[in-house]
Amino acid sequence: MQTLRRKDILGLEEMSAEEITLILETARSMREIMQRHIKKVPTLRGRSMINLFYEPSTRTKASFELAQKYMSSDPINVAGTSSSLVKGETLKDTVRNLEMMNIDCVVMRHPVSGSAHYLARNVEISVVNAGDGMHEHPTQGLLDMFTILDKKGRLEKLKVTIVGDIRHSRVARSNIWGLKKMGAEVVVSGPTTLMPPDMEDFEIRFEPSLDDAIEGADVVMALRLQKERQEGGLFPTLREYAELYGLNSRRVEKANEDALIMHPGPINRGIEISSELADGPRSVVLDQVTSGVAVRMAILYLLLGGTKEE
Ligand code: ASP
Repeated sequence: MQTLRRKDILGLEEMSAEEITLILETARSMREIMQRHIKKVPTLRGRSMINLFYEPSTRTKASFELAQKYMSSDPINVAGTSSSLVKGETLKDTVRNLEMMNIDCVVMRHPVSGSAHYLARNVEISVVNAGDGMHEHPTQGLLDMFTILDKKGRLEKLKVTIVGDIRHSRVARSNIWGLKKMGAEVVVSGPTTLMPPDMEDFEIRFEPSLDDAIEGADVVMALRLQKERQEGGLFPTLREYAELYGLNSRRVEKANEDALIMHPGPINRGIEISSELADGPRSVVLDQVTSGVAVRMAILYLLLGGTKEE
């Protein structure tokens, strides 16, 4: 059995192209399982998992839980607002206590960048990062790559344009690291105030003109404005943002004719992307959601599949 030789999935920055390829190939078989009439395989039977979400989530939480259930694990969900965190317990104490219940894996979403790495260093069980602040959202990056690969047949040499709030977006960071490793060209666009201060580290092209950024793109990905992470005054008004950087059919005319339109969700319709584009024929926004279950099944299988003895 091929497995990932790592305890945790924390980010795509530290993952190799070979590991990403293994996950994407495994996700293909997993998608086949989830399309069956009876979606249940015994792969993770007896493996216990806790989903610990300290930030809101719909798609990520539901798809992790479905992935766990399709593979016969019995997950427990703990929401941040109902956890002992609100009583002053530290993250390390919370998870160490949960660890003593003999769980095998914790899937965590947390508002603080670096929290998943911190936790992974302090517990023996596997940690899967379901989004840490504005740092990384590795399973989102993987599901986006899986969707692109599925539709385009390759990632190498594709031009992927990511538009919007790159600075505060963990989705952008995971996609940038992952796509670059897989040989794609990544171009980012948006207001300068929403670009990361450490952009040189990513070695990608920043194109302030959206038209130039979109020209010849194979994929155009819009991001949600991360209002919960922004300090005030980074752009004048939502209306002006939508006028300058909101995606619509006219805006994406310069992209390749068969360009994919993506958005990680949740969508603010009419701000980052118009409804006619999000619901149009080139949009793969809902395919991204399906890919999310397959990719999460794949990573849990590769991390925890098989018996401990094996
Ligand atoms: N759902 C994604 C995330 O949690 C994207 C977003 O919320 O903007 O990062």
